[in-house]
Amino acid sequence: MFLTLLLAATTLLTGACRDSSSTPKTAKAGQQAAPRVELRAEEYDPKPDAPPALKISGQRAYQNLKDFVSLGPRPIGSEGHEKAELFILSHLEGAQIEQDKFNAQTAAGRFAMNNIIAKFAGKKDGIIVLAGHYDTNLPLKNTTFVGANDGGSNVGLMLEIASQLRQQPPEGYSIWLLFTDGEEATVNWTDADSVYGSKHLAKRWEGDGTAAKIKAFLLLDMIGDKDLDVFRDTNSTPWLLDVVYRAAQRTHQQTHFFATSNGIMDDHLPFRDAGIPVADIIDLNYGFDNIYHHTTQDTPDKCSAASLQIVGDVVMETIRALNTH
Ligand SMILES: [Zn+2]
Repeated sequence: MFLTLLLAATTLLTGACRDSSSTPKTAKAGQQAAPRVELRAEEYDPKPDAPPALKISGQRAYQNLKDFVSLGPRPIGSEGHEKAELFILSHLEGAQIEQDKFNAQTAAGRFAMNNIIAKFAGKKDGIIVLAGHYDTNLPLKNTTFVGANDGGSNVGLMLEIASQLRQQPPEGYSIWLLFTDGEEATVNWTDADSVYGSKHLAKRWEGDGTAAKIKAFLLLDMIGDKDLDVFRDTNSTPWLLDVVYRAAQRTHQQTHFFATSNGIMDDHLPFRDAGIPVADIIDLNYGFDNIYHHTTQDTPDKCSAASLQIVGDVVMETIRALNTH
């Protein structure tokens, strides 16, 4: 029933993330490595004596965003992309790093890609993944498009989270920060021409047993918009979205969450199809009617430290909640 309803809903919805003409991907049944116990979102509410959520700084996240996009455009195959990889790696010193390098045959030819994973070991058996892409749109490579919000915002916040985790390693589940590559379409967004890095890594994690250890996969995309209104993504895992929403309520930020529902195609789908609970935290209403998305207007002045603080606080509170089980 759940799957039928979800599929019925997603086929009606436009592929809001990149191209409204695309057909959303459908979930494949029976691919979960091990049965997962599904709890109600309320059961994740932290007890009063639970350790506090990790504190992060929206200001520092925003400074990271500005520093990152000052490197210029970073489409796959470009010098800017190499600079972006080095920037991320240089800000992750002290973490256990894995680089998942591979070559992808794309609609625009063959490209080297690199998913970067920073692993912070916790004390509980299991992993929470925070993910977001760092590449910029290839078709816009000959413009000044720097993706301040689209790629820059999540990198800025994730690097701030990394710097806090370095000082205060996770008490609960391990936290892996995953900087995905090749999220953007190389010609036009379709299931085939998109999320190259995620497809590659999700397949690997499904094969080597990692997927079964991941408790939750939280995707951050376009979270820097000054006017923050995060969508409720109908392609994400409902109970996990509910945990996120309850975290938003506890941090008194619920007005910024889930007023609008839509089916989003993004980096989370290959991981969902590998049996992992996923939530795409995305505000795909960037400027009036999403007018700044994939334009040279996607610059740091359209983003704010306040929005990064809100998303950061809600994500940290979500992790605190997930650690109750
Ligand atoms: Zn994009």
